[in-house]
Amino acid sequence: MNRLNRTSSRRDFVTRVSAGIGAFSLVNALPSLSAASSVNKSSKLGIAFIGLGNYATKQLAPAMEQAEDCYLAGIVTGTKAKEAVWREKYGIKKENIYNYENFDLIAANADIDIVYVVLPNSMHAEYTIRAAKAGKHVICEKPMALTAKEGQTMIDACEKYNVLLSIGYRLHFDPNTREIMKVAAEKPYGKAQYVHSEAAFIMGGNKGWRLSKEMAGGGAMMDMGIYSIQAARYATGEEPIAVRAQEYKTDQDKFKEVDETVTWQMEFPGGAYSNSMTSYNARANRLYVSYQKGAALLEPATKYTGIKGNIQKRVLEVQPINQQARQMDGFAQSVKSGTPSIVPGEEGMRDMRVIDAIYRSLANGGRRELI
Ligand code: NAD
Repeated sequence: MNRLNRTSSRRDFVTRVSAGIGAFSLVNALPSLSAASSVNKSSKLGIAFIGLGNYATKQLAPAMEQAEDCYLAGIVTGTKAKEAVWREKYGIKKENIYNYENFDLIAANADIDIVYVVLPNSMHAEYTIRAAKAGKHVICEKPMALTAKEGQTMIDACEKYNVLLSIGYRLHFDPNTREIMKVAAEKPYGKAQYVHSEAAFIMGGNKGWRLSKEMAGGGAMMDMGIYSIQAARYATGEEPIAVRAQEYKTDQDKFKEVDETVTWQMEFPGGAYSNSMTSYNARANRLYVSYQKGAALLEPATKYTGIKGNIQKRVLEVQPINQQARQMDGFAQSVKSGTPSIVPGEEGMRDMRVIDAIYRSLANGGRRELI
């Protein structure tokens, strides 16, 4: 299926969608995940992955096989050997295979509706903007950019070229995580007063670009800390106004360029506060929320599968869903039906502003307000 402007003007479409985004707030608008039941399922949208690394290969491509509203139509890779492997495994047409040099020719390819940017963090902005310029809708992996300023250039480009932008926040498509968002929106136990969120793992070996400040923009904070920020935001249903952050390194040598372990606190306008942790050299994966009249726990809170916990005495069992399939279908449904992504570029920007403030606090110390 080709782009939207076959039937209606792309400008009209994005104007409509942008109006929806303007009204969007993290927990006050919880669109149904099956909202696209009216969508014509016979017309799957074509997605092209750019960056066939670990996440694209081991998670996204297998997940795509479970998707109902989109399919893997193309790939962009700089590694010749991967072309034949992916062609054979996923039946990708030869003419839908691009490299980093000829990527812009994708503009003329009617099979590709969406480009999914799964590259190192420092390349997100460039390829999101190039994809937008080629007239393709974009899913960009988290963190959306290296800074909020850079993130804004991506939003501006997508607006300019009338395409939709979504960030790869798969947890927004997990039913148990959405239960936490719903409690924040409906407040059956009163307001959240305290949140504790942790997302950390022990990085074995030398993980290439993730240890480079230039390529990753930062360390554990950029990679896993963003989940702890997200968790505190959706558990309170509010946007933080100020942060204080502290950094520790247990391995000075390995993590000489990027942050290894960071703890930080966030203040929310309604009076709630959070305490969070991220690390490349510790294990943690948890979200605890204390409400005025109760508590909730997710543990694990950010993994690809097995998210479970409880809200008060109600047990949240593991849900047999594929987060990435739902996420990609969700965006395909947005594009098809002209409704905003539930995780638009603006959602990525909210985290980038917090990350900017955390890095300002690490550099200069003390309490830093969000700007
Ligand atoms: P990876 O290193 O496994 O893959 C990166 C890909 O980019 C490789 O195919 C590599 O060849 C390609 N590449 C192109 N130019 C490159 C360059 N100059 N240097 C290095 N690689 C280059 O990384 P990954 O784990 O797949 O992560 C990719 C992105 O996906 C990151 O932004 C990461 O944060 C995100 N991610 C998201 C999730 C999630 O759950 N949403 C999970 C994992 C990774």
